[in-house]
Amino acid sequence: MQGMMMNRPLMISDILTYAAEAHPRAEIVSVRTEGDVHRQTYPETLARVSQLAHALQGMGVEAGDRIATLAWNGYRHFELYYAISGIGAVCHTINPRLSAEQMTYIVAHAGDKVLFVDLTFVPILEKLKDQLPASLTYVIMTDRAHMPQNSLNALCYEELLEGQPTTFDWPEFDENTASGLCYTSGTTGNPKGALYSHRSTVLHGLMISLVMGSAFPEGAKVLPVVPLFHVNAWGLPYAAPMVGLSMVMPGPALDGPSIFKLMDAEGVYSAWGVPTVWQGLLAEIKAQGRIPNGFGDVIVGGSAAPRVMIETFEKLGINVGHAWGMTEMSPIGTHGNMPGWVRKLPFDKMIDAKAKQGRRVFGVDLKIVDDNGKRQPHDGKAIGELYVRGNTVVSGYFNNEEATKKVIDAEGWFGTGDIASIDPNGFLSIQDRSKDLIKSGGEWISSIDLENVAMAHPGIASCAAIAMPHPKWDERPVLIAVASGADKPSLEDIHTHMEGHFAKWQLPDDIIWVEALPLTATGKVSKLTLRQQFADYKLP
Ligand code: ADP
Repeated sequence: MQGMMMNRPLMISDILTYAAEAHPRAEIVSVRTEGDVHRQTYPETLARVSQLAHALQGMGVEAGDRIATLAWNGYRHFELYYAISGIGAVCHTINPRLSAEQMTYIVAHAGDKVLFVDLTFVPILEKLKDQLPASLTYVIMTDRAHMPQNSLNALCYEELLEGQPTTFDWPEFDENTASGLCYTSGTTGNPKGALYSHRSTVLHGLMISLVMGSAFPEGAKVLPVVPLFHVNAWGLPYAAPMVGLSMVMPGPALDGPSIFKLMDAEGVYSAWGVPTVWQGLLAEIKAQGRIPNGFGDVIVGGSAAPRVMIETFEKLGINVGHAWGMTEMSPIGTHGNMPGWVRKLPFDKMIDAKAKQGRRVFGVDLKIVDDNGKRQPHDGKAIGELYVRGNTVVSGYFNNEEATKKVIDAEGWFGTGDIASIDPNGFLSIQDRSKDLIKSGGEWISSIDLENVAMAHPGIASCAAIAMPHPKWDERPVLIAVASGADKPSLEDIHTHMEGHFAKWQLPDDIIWVEALPLTATGKVSKLTLRQQFADYKLP
């Protein structure tokens, strides 16, 4: 027997029309590429999104078309998210830090029809223009007064909106219709596209609103430092309007002092981003001897949050939510909201729990398997490759059957490439990406564990552990580190500091000091670059 409930399609446009009605005072505050700070409420945003939807249709954009963006976090980028998907087209966010080669590949692979670009990135596109499809229409995301001279024959965003009606009759269609497209940064081979749907996007918004409660008190301000071009800014542009949060969009300046100043001026409560960004903010907090006004919660993800970083934030009274996910998972898979019994533990034990990647979100299933695909117990000891399943996980890659075959197993689960354990309380512990694990004498060493402990040494500001080839042991760990001051600790000092946490054979064979660690397009430490950089290195 079937239930007798209405079956309404889950539509992204409903999120914004809801926010405009139920949270009319919440705002989107944006640092603009033009240099000033801009504010608009959700009702004002809905009016402009309606104008943009009319303009897109006027340009001939049809359902299913891919419309690209190359932009920072700002209200116009947010408007594009809703207008493009609202008319049934697909919003393809491009990471501007990708190489020229990768960028031209994905524009062609996605079959983009129009490309919306922030002022900052116009010169990049001018250089690439001859390699991009001649049929591509460019729109610069600014007003007439700021339109630059350009060779793109580009249209002007604000001119497109001018005179368009401020209401739009949002169509209803199949909730499985594609809404967004995001390519992985592709550390090996070409980037692969995750194609989200209205259904997966609305569900993801609801799912994270449930578990990221600490970040979401109604009426608070939230700062996505994580870019809109990196997996939908982890779902915030959908969850924030659902729960009535104001969003503070940082624009191009993501260094510690700029973020501090913005958070302080706006009274941001919760800020979201990768660990490298928080290192900059923590340095500024130290320099100023205080935290930004109103700051109470930080969500750290994208790569493992160093234990010492979690500890430093918590000692400042800022709640840390450590989350894990992937582009292929919309992206949130697990979250670091702590149950009461963990919050009551002694401080050190509580930090230990927060250094893990948290528990699964309702709707995301996790399994770990050994090399033969056999399921391993969730006993906190067994380690295996992590597979995931759920309504917010990709079923394959966009137009890429070959890559799809490699990641979907016989039971239809997606292989993350992460090596993990899960404990009986449901906490996930990511040991490493499989390609970053260090194999010494047939035993694995987790680079994340080494980094976590090494970074707690006061002489180390940041570091990465990578494998170096060894004739006898196959691989040995080496630390590549940035010193926090002029006095660099010796390898012996580091060993003494790390000894209690590791067996002797697990300790790094060497430490190499560098000025800075190379970052990936999504702002994480790039171990691939480090491995290339030190390809000729010889172990002592
Ligand atoms: P990329 O950075 O390669 O474009 P993603 O952002 O999708 O792609 O990266 C996902 C990967 O990042 C995960 O598979 C995992 O290895 C790593 N990751 C994400 N969050 C965490 C975390 N909290 N702890 C450890 N690793 C993480």
